This record gives sequence, C-alpha cells and structure tokens, in this order.
Amino acid sequence: MVEKIKAVGLNDKGELGVKYVEKPPMGSDEVLVRPTAVAPCTSDIHAFFGEDTITEDLGKLVLGHEAIGVIVEAGEDVKDFKVGDKVVIPCTTPDWNCEAAQLGCHINATADDGYDMYVQDMLTGIKYPNTKMGVFCELINVSQADLNLAHHPEDVSVESALMVTDMVTTGFTGAENAKIETGDTVAVLGIGPVGLMAVAGAAIMGAGRIFAVGSRPICTELAREYGATDIIDYHDGDTIQQILEATDMKGVDATIIAGGNNDIFIDAMNITRPSGNISNINMISKGDTIPLPVDAFAFGLADKTIRSSLCLGGRRRAEQLLKMVKYGRVDPSKLITHKFHGFEAIVDALLMMKDKPRDLVKPIVYLD
Ligand code: NDP
Ligand code: ZN
Repeated sequence: MVEKIKAVGLNDKGELGVKYVEKPPMGSDEVLVRPTAVAPCTSDIHAFFGEDTITEDLGKLVLGHEAIGVIVEAGEDVKDFKVGDKVVIPCTTPDWNCEAAQLGCHINATADDGYDMYVQDMLTGIKYPNTKMGVFCELINVSQADLNLAHHPEDVSVESALMVTDMVTTGFTGAENAKIETGDTVAVLGIGPVGLMAVAGAAIMGAGRIFAVGSRPICTELAREYGATDIIDYHDGDTIQQILEATDMKGVDATIIAGGNNDIFIDAMNITRPSGNISNINMISKGDTIPLPVDAFAFGLADKTIRSSLCLGGRRRAEQLLKMVKYGRVDPSKLITHKFHGFEAIVDALLMMKDKPRDLVKPIVYLD
C-alpha cells in the first residue's frame, strides 16, 4: 500500500489546507528529511494567491521551500550525510550535472531534460514547489544530497539556520549582484525580511551609506540594526525625490530592489547614478512588462547595469552563510516575529504571511 503523509497545499475543498499526499520517492544519491522547523515565504503567497501562479495545477501543489530537519532515510550513494543528521535545506537545490551549472548559473540548473540548458529551464534550480513537492510536507526529498545539503552547526540556532535557507541567501544575492564597493551609497527598496538581509549584506560588503525604503516600524527598526543609515518612507512622498535630495542629486551607486511592483524599476532607474548597478531580487507577478523610463535610461543609452536573480543555492553557499551566522557577522534570527507550533499551524502562518500584519517580519513553525 502507498504510504500517505501530510502536506500543505490546495485541499479537496479547494482551499489552502492540510491534505494527504504520497510519500516522495528517494534515489540513491538522495535523502528524505523530516522537517523540524519551516517558514512561509512571500513567494509562497505569490505562488498560491498570485495572478501568475507558478504551477499550472494548483491541486498538485505542495507549498514551501524554507525548511530544516533531520534525515530519516539516505540513499546508498550519499557519502557525507546519514540518518539522524540535522540538516539545513537550501531553498535552491539544483542539478549540478547539467550545462547551466557548468556555466555558473545554477539557479537554472535542471538535468530533467538532459544536459542542455533551455530558455524554459529558467529558475528550475528552485525545485520546491515548482518541479517537485514543496517542503510543507512530513517528508522532504533532497536530490543530490551531498551537493545540496548543509550540516546544521550546533552553535547556530534553529531560527537562524532556517533563515539561511532563503532570506539570508536571497538578501545577500541582492547585495552581491549590486557590486557594492567600499564606501558606496546604496538604496534598498523594500525592507521586509528579504530587503533586511540585503541591508545586512550591503553593510558587510562595505557600503558607506544605506537608504532603507519601507514603512513598517518593526522593519525600519531592524533595518537600522542591520546597518541602514537613512530610512525613507515611500508614503511620505516620491522615493526618487527623497533620495535625490538626500544625495545632493547625485543618486546612489547601487540599488537593490526587494519590494514593490513593476513600477519600482522606475524608482531604481531614477535614483541610480550613471554606470551604477541595479540588482533585483523581488518577484514581479503582475503584468507583461517592466518599465524603464526613457529619461533615466538616457534615451536607452544610460550606462546602468540591471541584474536579477533567484537566490543562490546548494551546499557550499549554505555553508558559507552558516559561517557568517556562526561567527557573528549577521544574526538573521531577529527576523522572526511570530512563532507557531505543529503541522496544522503551517496554514495559519501562511495566512498571516498573506495578510501581512504590520508587526510581522517573518513567522516560524516548529514541528518537533
Ligand atoms: P515583504 O512584503 O515583507 O516586504 C516588501 C517590502 O517592500 C516592504 O518593506 C514594503 O514596505 C516595501 N514596499 C512596498 N511597496 C513599495 C514601494 N512602492 N517602494 C518601496 N518599498 C515598497 O516581502 P519579503 O521581504 O518577504 O519579499 C520581498 C520579495 O522578494 C517578494 O517579492 C518575494 O517573492 C521575493 N523573494 C525573492 C527570492 C529570490 O530568490 N529572488 C526569494 C524570496 C523572496 P512596508 O514597510 O510599507 O510594508
Ligand atoms: Zn522564498
């Protein structure tokens, strides 16, 4: 008989809820992990409630991509991990044996259709919950376990380890792609948990001045703790005007986009100086185009670089970030504002993430 396990997604009543799914299979280089703590992400909300859902069949969807846990089964070819190990599961778990991985863009790395990288493979490095069940499930399959898992260091808290799976790597990816140099002025547009980790990343990379743009008081407070020097509330007037005036009309060296909708690119293009960098980590789920204002784009000729990326993943990335936590460079556990217990509470945490009360930064659900 097929073993059934609990998962969170669209249930029989057509609602978000707990349902039963088949136990995931496990290959020889794979493991099954029992999650001990999970967290919902704004991207789960885009996936489930957004206008452009990332899956065609919501009925099959099991949400979630942020989890840590304990290995309960391990394939015979897995070398560095064994049953009972506490592990951190990066939300991006690529196939490392394909063309995209060899090109250095593992966020698109899938070997499902052979070695080749196709345009339609974009973002397939994040499998949960796009090409396999998400992590809001009693058992999580991790492929290429030796390359995609990290051991959970004893002196890193549950909360921090969980934030490494997505929030830290995403925020830091934003800061890295902004190519920040010592003393740079940086603007971070959006300071939810992702933007806050971008602020922390920018500070660590040596930014001199950091504008944090947002309005929730809990987020502006944390932004200062993570290294922001100036807070801009986008409700207090045009963000472009506020930042240009504060910089004597020079603009910023780099902008990281971590919130807002398509129009946020208008702000980014206008506040970033010529030859500056714009780094997007925000998921845009509406409309067909992203606007690039002609004036700020200098008739299409402005020497401004735009990069966009999914968060970097895999084992080494997670180990590097866990080192940043372990040795006190960043404390992502401060992002946790709400705590839940038990599998059913994952639904409550997701709904809270959808409603975004003003005192929320990030919820956690403990499962053991
Ligand atoms: P939140 O909703 O918690 O934060 C969004 C932030 O944007 C808030 O600070 C909000 O301000 C701010 N904001 C909203 N409108 C504007 C505006 N017009 N100008 C400036 N700031 C604005 O989101 P998260 O931090 O959880 O996630 C951010 C994005 O990152 C999401 O789109 C998510 O899907 C994406 N993401 C991307 C990943 C990747 O790999 N690239 C991974 C994980 C998430 P206020 O304080 O007023 O609420
Ligand atoms: Zn996410």
